[in-house]
Amino acid sequence: MIIDISNTISTEDKTSEHEICLEAKDINVNGTDCKVVSAPVFLLTLTNQAGVRLDMSADGEVVLSVPCDRCLEPVEITVSIMIDEQIAIENGALTGEKPDFVSGNTMDTEAAIMDSIFSEFPAKILCSEDCKGLCLKCGKNLNEGECGCDRFVQDPRMAAFNDLFNQFKD
Ligand SMILES: [Zn+2]
Ligand SMILES: [Zn+2]
Repeated sequence: MIIDISNTISTEDKTSEHEICLEAKDINVNGTDCKVVSAPVFLLTLTNQAGVRLDMSADGEVVLSVPCDRCLEPVEITVSIMIDEQIAIENGALTGEKPDFVSGNTMDTEAAIMDSIFSEFPAKILCSEDCKGLCLKCGKNLNEGECGCDRFVQDPRMAAFNDLFNQFKD
């Protein structure tokens, strides 16, 4: 959503509140496709501080369905959304450093929310700490049981020991 923030920028000590939420149903975060399970509406507060600074603040969350890094089964995660920006105002106009989601007298709330999701997204997504992942040979989800593939990679030192053992056995 693009909101017009000109009134708050030009009016000293004005505060405005806007109901915002993530509008997309599918998003891609760092190459990972995520489905948006729920995106509750939350409040964005814009405050003109004595005509010299615009404060933007919002606090929300979004629930995403994301594939497990190991077994690819969908996992639901809650990502918090935090918007906390201060932009200088001079003579009733924004000046200096501005975040990418602010352009002229408008703010792109979707881009602001996405920025926050990018920074809050967990580095690792696992369905459980001890997820067994997929079999490298047949692709079966090993959390659902063994597939019977021989995935045992023998340690060469162990192999030497086995040879010795077999010698004595004969
Ligand atoms: Zn998993
Ligand atoms: Zn297998």
